[in-house]
Amino acid sequence: MQKLREGTKRRKPKNTEKNMFAGLLYCADCGHKLHYNINHPNSSIEYFNCSNYRGNRGTCNETHYIRADSLEQVVLLELNRMVSYLKNHAEEFAELLARKTTKDYERESQNRRQHLQELIARNKEVDRLFERIYEDNVAGKLTDERFMKMSQRYDAEQQQLKKDIEELQRQCDRENDRAFCKEQFLKAVRKFMEMKTLTPTILHELVERIDVYQTQGRGKNRTQRIVIHYNFIGVLDLPEVEEYPENVVLDSRQGVAIEYLVGKAG
Ligand SMILES: [Zn+2]
Repeated sequence: MQKLREGTKRRKPKNTEKNMFAGLLYCADCGHKLHYNINHPNSSIEYFNCSNYRGNRGTCNETHYIRADSLEQVVLLELNRMVSYLKNHAEEFAELLARKTTKDYERESQNRRQHLQELIARNKEVDRLFERIYEDNVAGKLTDERFMKMSQRYDAEQQQLKKDIEELQRQCDRENDRAFCKEQFLKAVRKFMEMKTLTPTILHELVERIDVYQTQGRGKNRTQRIVIHYNFIGVLDLPEVEEYPENVVLDSRQGVAIEYLVGKAG
């Protein structure tokens, strides 16, 4: 679990353009999306809160208020931490990704592909067999009655083969999708490593959703938990040992101190 002190960098109001986190944030308590808002009259403050909040005729008991600038810093720190982990522990990171595609899963996938190849081969063989009995029939080596029986049998077998091949092909395509997703995720990580900034594109390529909890505690002891669900890998629980990289500096805003807890509770 990581604790960060909330910091801010004042930004100019962004006209009517929505914040890049819009659509990614969910209320950890009721599951509804968080809605994007701009503070009035201080329009430099962008924030999100639960779209299902009781105060707005919803059923959720808390606002789940979170400032966009704070959130951006927390997510940026987490991404830097992930990159730092990837750099310092490349093997462990690869293992972590591999664990998301378990050994059993890979073995199953291999069997499926092999089975698919066998079915395709059998289908071709039946084509050939059918041609042969046809020729035999024409040449008078096979009676019409016998030919009809055999061709019906081959026909039935091919219909079944066709169904099985289609189903297996669909399953294999889904696996390719998964491999594709993994590749896309790694590509986005590499892109982030190069650019070192958070753009809407990179954010959406890396992050599937973020759960926002209600702030807990009072005064200086306020904490707020967020859980980042990455694309492909889901929630990433990096070992505690991984330190924050030194190049990331957090400003802290006077008078407001919230510690952000990132990751699942406990
Ligand atoms: Zn809610």
